[in-house]
Amino acid sequence: MRKETCKTCEKEFVIRDEDLIFYEQMKTVPPIYCPECRMARRLMFRNERILYKRSCDLCKENMITLYSPDSPYKVYCSKCWWSDEWDPKSFATDYDFSKTFFEQYKELQTKVPRLGLAAFKNIRSDYTNGSAENKDCYLIFASDYNEDCLYSRLLQRDKQCVDCAFLHESELCYECIDCRKCFRCMFVEQCQDSTDLLFCYNLRNSNNCIFCTNGRNISNSILNIKYSKEEFEKKKSEILKNYESIEKAKKEFAELKNKTIKKFATQTKCHNVTGDYIHNCYDGVELYDTYDAKNCSYMKDTEKPTDSQDCNNYYYKPQFGYNIMGALEGSRLKNSAFVFYSNEVEYCDMCYNLSNGFGCISVRKGNYMILNKEHEREEYLKLKEKIENQMKREKDFGQFFPPEVAPFTYNESLINDFFPLSKEEALKRGYRWQDKTTGTFDKETIKKGEVPDSINDIDEKILNEILVCEECNKNFKIIEAELTFYKKMNLPLPHKDFECRHQDRMKKRNGMKLYYRSCMKEDCKNEFETTYAPDTSDIIYCENCYQQEIY
Ligand SMILES: [Zn+2]
Ligand SMILES: [Zn+2]
Ligand SMILES: [Zn+2]
Ligand SMILES: [Zn+2]
Repeated sequence: MRKETCKTCEKEFVIRDEDLIFYEQMKTVPPIYCPECRMARRLMFRNERILYKRSCDLCKENMITLYSPDSPYKVYCSKCWWSDEWDPKSFATDYDFSKTFFEQYKELQTKVPRLGLAAFKNIRSDYTNGSAENKDCYLIFASDYNEDCLYSRLLQRDKQCVDCAFLHESELCYECIDCRKCFRCMFVEQCQDSTDLLFCYNLRNSNNCIFCTNGRNISNSILNIKYSKEEFEKKKSEILKNYESIEKAKKEFAELKNKTIKKFATQTKCHNVTGDYIHNCYDGVELYDTYDAKNCSYMKDTEKPTDSQDCNNYYYKPQFGYNIMGALEGSRLKNSAFVFYSNEVEYCDMCYNLSNGFGCISVRKGNYMILNKEHEREEYLKLKEKIENQMKREKDFGQFFPPEVAPFTYNESLINDFFPLSKEEALKRGYRWQDKTTGTFDKETIKKGEVPDSINDIDEKILNEILVCEECNKNFKIIEAELTFYKKMNLPLPHKDFECRHQDRMKKRNGMKLYYRSCMKEDCKNEFETTYAPDTSDIIYCENCYQQEIY
């Protein structure tokens, strides 16, 4: 183990012996940035939710895209980008040793067309990104295999769910976070295999519960106490009566959660790992929202990876990846963004089926390519070695793309979710900023405070009205599928736009920072790493003590 000082934030960070072995295996050098600053660089390459309308630079038709009309790149709609109307290899560039690698990479970026949205095989789901195999979905992000889902992030195999996050294999859910296999649940967190829950936390195999926590196999309960069916239904309709009664219940639930004993981390079936919101992971540190990982560290939003480090949004059994933002399958991937079904690539962006690539953009199939130019194998290896020797003299050798070549501004990219900065501060640190964000203001036809309290007072005329977010004053609309859902679930209309609702949900989850703490149960000396900060009022127990608190 050794300690280094981060070249960006100047904080001390640890490089473990296991990490050094990994860097050796990956034929790279140890990082000069701390795990947090490494992740920040990767996040600069991901605009997940800011969508624009602009025309495709090839067919000129209007499209929904991640790139603003004033973005410096050529942007194609999905149909054009995948077509034979253009050839990524026509941008082949000879390497020039009188310039730095990143100078040449930046020049290539301004020429090669980019894919407008990262959305694949979706049906009637134009307003989605980081999405695949979805049907009739709207404003869902980093999500796949869903049907009729709206306004959510990280949904997998869900049906008719609205305003949810990190939800798997569930149906008819609203405002649920970190749940699996739930049916008709609302305002629920960390529940599994359950039905008809309202304002519940950490239940398993339960049904018809309100304000229940830490329960297993319970039913018809309020505050973990059993009631008759009639009493239960009475309480339920009281809560769901109107907007105001739901807001009151939200506050009660927040207080209840605060008093509830919690496990130090949301980890199930994990062995020898640190991190949070993880399932079935073995051997590694700092894993977040990661499932079925083996021998991986410093990961976020990944599924089934092995022998990898520093990866985000990394799915479909990838292996030996280092510093990756966005990959499906693949092996031996380094310092790249959105590389799909590719092997042995480095400094590549938005490439498919590429083997042995260095500094390539928007390649759809290729072998032994440098700056989009194909080479013979021997020639490729020789040239790549020469470039690496040149790069060793530059400060960022072996590190992820520097922020100067990130394709998005600070406030468009996901970095702003985790490390928010003001415009002034972002500009001062050398980042770009987008002033013309999408959306309108002052166009509302229903003023703040004038939205009917109950869904019973609303009909389809609402689809023509323009609402206003009570928090950020941005205008928003209600879509037909959404109205149908609210009617079906007897829910009032929201008073905030999608983005503010999303931010509210994210605030209910812990951040990606670990603290050494000990179990708060009297006389227990067990220690652990947790995302619950010492200055919060949460009651945190170790695994053993927590299990004794389960009903
Ligand atoms: Zn740092
Ligand atoms: Zn087009
Ligand atoms: Zn808002
Ligand atoms: Zn304990």
